Amino acid sequence: MAQQLAPDYLIGLAREFGTPLYVYHAEKIREQYEKLTSAFRNSNTIFFYACKALTNVNILKYIHSLGANVDCSSINEVRLALFAGFSPDRILYTSNGIAFGEIEEAKELGVIINIDSLSNLEKFGAKFGHSYPVGIRLRPNILAGGNLKISTGHDKSKFGIPVDQADLVLAIVQKYNMHISDLHIHTGSEIKDVDVFVKGIEVLFDIVPKFSELEFIDLGGGFKVPYKDGDVETDIELLARKIEAAFSSHPNPGGRPLQVWFEPGKFLVSESGLFITQVNVLKETSAATFVSVDSGFNHLIRPMFYDAYHRIVNLSNPHGDPKRYSVVGNICETDTFAWDRMIHEVREGDFLAFYNAGAYGFEMSSNFNSRFKPAEVMVRDGKAHLIRKRDVFEDLLRNQILL
Ligand SMILES: *Cc1c(COP(=O)(O)O)cnc(C)c1O
Repeated sequence: MAQQLAPDYLIGLAREFGTPLYVYHAEKIREQYEKLTSAFRNSNTIFFYACKALTNVNILKYIHSLGANVDCSSINEVRLALFAGFSPDRILYTSNGIAFGEIEEAKELGVIINIDSLSNLEKFGAKFGHSYPVGIRLRPNILAGGNLKISTGHDKSKFGIPVDQADLVLAIVQKYNMHISDLHIHTGSEIKDVDVFVKGIEVLFDIVPKFSELEFIDLGGGFKVPYKDGDVETDIELLARKIEAAFSSHPNPGGRPLQVWFEPGKFLVSESGLFITQVNVLKETSAATFVSVDSGFNHLIRPMFYDAYHRIVNLSNPHGDPKRYSVVGNICETDTFAWDRMIHEVREGDFLAFYNAGAYGFEMSSNFNSRFKPAEVMVRDGKAHLIRKRDVFEDLLRNQILL
């Protein structure tokens, strides 16, 4: 297991690089990746890191060095992945409501493409016919995931082509003699129950025989990670056994064994990341004791956006008496990181670390309130590397045009 970064070490990083600061522990990413590859060692399964979770190029390069592939949500992520050294055949672009022009660009770059609408499927077929293999993103009509904001496969979700429109899909595929290489579903995020993935395959198995050139089944991402004591992560070993069983009881009628793909985002990088802030102000009120840190939802939006829980540790006073606090940001909006949370006694100037900050942390940050985006540091082989500078004032003006 990757050694946890010690509080004193994290305080050293906060002093050296300033706060607020994102810190990523590379060995933790490797540990998570190895959990996946080891559980699926006996099956033909590969993993595409869903890089929208964290796209710093150094992280992409590190994940590339582990042997993983990459899943992208925009053409710019595709370009970042190419820049980081992934070859086009290791890059998957799972599109979602994008302009056809972007799909054409992805085709020019030679990457693997999943199409998520009848309209773009038709345009792709009309233009490229059988010449370029393509995948289809289906919506399995399964409700799964931590909460509705992060569920993507249910019957009211915008994502994918509803499976009940399979006949329309097939009509387009036949009309243009399209080469369909994979079927994709992604049901949501924070899926604890591995049977959701099995249910997803069951839905796909019904239509697999209709696609004679199929090579891959892509089951998306959404593995759960623990946020607090007692939380469990998706049981990857159990998942592997169940997926193997499902595939061996449904051999591909086309003859070729189908390779299974997954697209983990959060699972790979969430726990590798910590977000370190410093306490500006303590405010006693009748309602709560507020701890205001030198950050806000402009830097870590998950608590406000998804009601996400992030463990908060007082690095500076690890043995202080635990007390109840509301930890808030300095943004002029309601900006709460945690309500009524027990934390070792907090004093002004203390450093607080937010855990599980690797996924959808920096990546969703903004310059709201004209504050600078934080710096990012990667710790690898016991050495800390600055991998993104903190913004400076010029960054706020960079693209503005003075009249
Ligand atoms: C976001 C996303 C993922 C990753 O989801 P996690 O919950 O981070 O694992 C995988 N596939 C697609 C298509 C996505 O949009």
